[in-house]
Amino acid sequence: MGFRFPIRRPGLRRLVCRGLLALGLALAAELPCWAGSSLSAWRIGRDGSLELRTSPGIQLQAFFEEGRNGLGPRVWVDLPGPPTRTRVVPAGGAVREVRIGKPDYGTTRLVLEFQPGTRLDPRQLRLVGTARDRWRMELTGVPAGSLLSVGEGDMEAPTAIAMPRWSPRSFGSDYANSARSTSRQPLNPEGLPLVPRGRFRVVIDPGHGGPDPGAVGINGLRETDVVLDVGLQVAQLLQARGVTVSMTRTSEVDVDLPPRVNLANSLGANLFVSIHANALSMDRPDVNGVETFFFEGGSSRDLAVIIQDQLMAVSPGTPDRGARPGRFYVIRRTTMPSVLTEMGFVTGRIDAPRLADPSFRRRLAQAVASGILAYLNR
Ligand SMILES: [Zn+2]
Repeated sequence: MGFRFPIRRPGLRRLVCRGLLALGLALAAELPCWAGSSLSAWRIGRDGSLELRTSPGIQLQAFFEEGRNGLGPRVWVDLPGPPTRTRVVPAGGAVREVRIGKPDYGTTRLVLEFQPGTRLDPRQLRLVGTARDRWRMELTGVPAGSLLSVGEGDMEAPTAIAMPRWSPRSFGSDYANSARSTSRQPLNPEGLPLVPRGRFRVVIDPGHGGPDPGAVGINGLRETDVVLDVGLQVAQLLQARGVTVSMTRTSEVDVDLPPRVNLANSLGANLFVSIHANALSMDRPDVNGVETFFFEGGSSRDLAVIIQDQLMAVSPGTPDRGARPGRFYVIRRTTMPSVLTEMGFVTGRIDAPRLADPSFRRRLAQAVASGILAYLNR
């Protein structure tokens, strides 16, 4: 093909996507005869986004380089596995061309070379995992309408459902048995409210991730682990009811707050639910409870009330801190009904052991999912 990719040099800004470390290792065993690229499809959309479909659970990295010497800026993504063939795809508009290259034997590199003079702000660029096999980057800074739609492969193929097989402790217990100990019988999977299939899109946002563990509580219980486990289960339950679910993260990756909001806003999601666990200091185990925040009244408040009720139904004995107004970034800046739920205190004497218990997390996921479905069903 004639072009060579430069070796990555120090000083180039690394954009994203450290994460997936443990996940990537676990999945390597699933793909013993690794052959060919993990890149299944890609697309640049007129809406100013780059989307990728990959093998599920892979590790990838994205980079940015300023334009110079008459060349435009470049964004590139390295994925495991060599491409079937290197190639140049003419793009048009603000993107001069897209190249699929092989910087070394085991890597596929997707390069977007922009027209000279194109202004991109690398601080705004994030490649966000929206499912185990989907990634999305908002090409923030590229003028609206200056991109042409171009891509290869089938982006519409079914999404790999996030099955956290790398976390079997999350699924090891018997939900039906453990549920009997609670005061109100929570909904089992079959009992979840029905909604019209294919009509709704919900964004689930497990808080924190990657180098940011969120709150850390009793026995080292980490908020990030709790909320990711619950979030993945909520997604599965909703998908089983025909709801399209996008997740702001599906693994231990670091995702800033703006991309979480941008994902929901650009997808035109019907709902946004951010999942967190609370914390106070370790010497306040007396503080426990569940609370769900909304920014403005109306729909978001209704959603918060429903989810809070469902969570309290499976959390007997812990204080009901209520559905309350809050000013968190992700609920302030999303344009659809949105809530942020704090499912208990990782520092609390009542809540911490429960949040550490896989069967309880399963019940929490049931509660959040049933609240979402009940709201959609109104
Ligand atoms: Zn949090």
